[in-house]
Amino acid sequence: MEHFEESLLKLIIDTSTNLPPDVRRAVEQAQIREEIGSRAALALETIVENVLLAEEEQGPICQDTGMPTFEVHTPVGANQIVMERQIKAAVAEATRLGKLRTNSVDSLTGKNTGDNLGPGTPVIHFHQWENDEIDVRLILKGGGCENKNIQYSLPMELPGLGKAGRDLDGIRKCIMHAVYQAQGQGCSAGFIGVSIGGDRTSGYQHAKEQLFRHLDDHNPIKELAELESYIMEHANELGVGTMGFGGRISLLGCKIGVQNRLPASFFVSVAYNCWAFRRQGVRIDPRTGEILNWIYKQGTSDLKRKESAGFSDKVKVLRAPISEEEIRALHVGDVVLISGEMHTGRDAIHKYLMDHDAPVSLEGGVLYHCGPVMMKDDEGKWHVKAAGPTTSAREEPYQAEIIQKFGLRVVMGKGGMGAKTLAGLKASGALYLNAIGGAAQYYAKSVEAVDGVDYLEEFGIPEAMWHLQVDGFPAIVTMDSHGNSLHADVDDHSFKKLEEFADPVY
Ligand code: SF4
Repeated sequence: MEHFEESLLKLIIDTSTNLPPDVRRAVEQAQIREEIGSRAALALETIVENVLLAEEEQGPICQDTGMPTFEVHTPVGANQIVMERQIKAAVAEATRLGKLRTNSVDSLTGKNTGDNLGPGTPVIHFHQWENDEIDVRLILKGGGCENKNIQYSLPMELPGLGKAGRDLDGIRKCIMHAVYQAQGQGCSAGFIGVSIGGDRTSGYQHAKEQLFRHLDDHNPIKELAELESYIMEHANELGVGTMGFGGRISLLGCKIGVQNRLPASFFVSVAYNCWAFRRQGVRIDPRTGEILNWIYKQGTSDLKRKESAGFSDKVKVLRAPISEEEIRALHVGDVVLISGEMHTGRDAIHKYLMDHDAPVSLEGGVLYHCGPVMMKDDEGKWHVKAAGPTTSAREEPYQAEIIQKFGLRVVMGKGGMGAKTLAGLKASGALYLNAIGGAAQYYAKSVEAVDGVDYLEEFGIPEAMWHLQVDGFPAIVTMDSHGNSLHADVDDHSFKKLEEFADPVY
């Protein structure tokens, strides 16, 4: 097993940087079906550009490389203790190389371990089997979509859909609701793994296991195969669209599994995965530890970048310090390019700024909800390796006050924010910009220099406040200073669509 650790490192790097062909084909189909020139089509162009960049540069497709979760099947007699040690060493090395973000945080102190190792991280499940080879599968599922997982306990009353009973029709309603409730916050269009049955714990695990199925496989259970087809056809009528911008494609894949349950329980558990569906696997020779073959590399895909990739026409340029007049002139749907200074800030920074001064002036400035992947070179200079937006909704309790307290003009992230922030934008003369979730390589390219960093020691790399110089950093106004929110509009529209699925089908 001399080569096992090296093989695992290859698996991690490939999973993080190279989207599998079946996922690429799903994105390609979405591009074909989306309305030309729409916001969703623009977002898909950016996604494609990002996927191609990540492959070329061997950089993380998304800056959130998630909770590394390994499913390992081993032949009888294989030493799982040694394997676990080597998997952990490979995870630490991939983190050192900037292929995984430092994502393991002490839940009580908030301290980042810096190497993705710690209690509960990474997740490794061993299973023994009677085959001769080792089978290792890895999924990197980020926090934005992990937070949109949902579990239903039937029977129940579902908003917009009415009573969901303990039958196929109740399951159908749960899945439709799961797609609706994710909106753009899990970086739609998404893939869902569904588990029927089990208990609360095994339900979620089984749902995630469905995400390891090939996208073009066929469910052997007739009723579930039909339900998968139904969901793929109708979930796309909800109109959530790519990044929640509205559009024809909200779901790229649906896989449903079933397991037994207790008589008293009936859970439907849904694992929601973003478009950046990073899962890969290898078969390994148990004598040498070398890779024999890859599991999700079959077939080809024809993802192509477009000349206009990203945001070409009708753009407005904003450079900090930004005036209130510039902000009031912008409306929902406008495309904006940020140039000049920008500061990152996410959960820890927002909480901190409520009771403290900012380390630099934020007057007229841009606050970017982002936890980047950063690397320091031999001369001690920092470089951005991946820098897509994080889910903004988590900052809802703080945002309006932070905008007002520090005189911010722009907050940028993904998935939109709520009514309190919308009112704050109107009162203070500020904007919310939606960047394209997961487009981490695309955005990293817009960063020209790292001016400095604050709170690195206290909060760790993703949560620190990075001061960046950017050039032509594109995003879309989705909440303006006049009380308009694209997110609220898409939510309303998709809820009305959801209500159309209340009548029984089964
Ligand atoms: S694409 Fe979006 S949901 Fe997925 S890991 Fe990246 S930020 Fe999170």
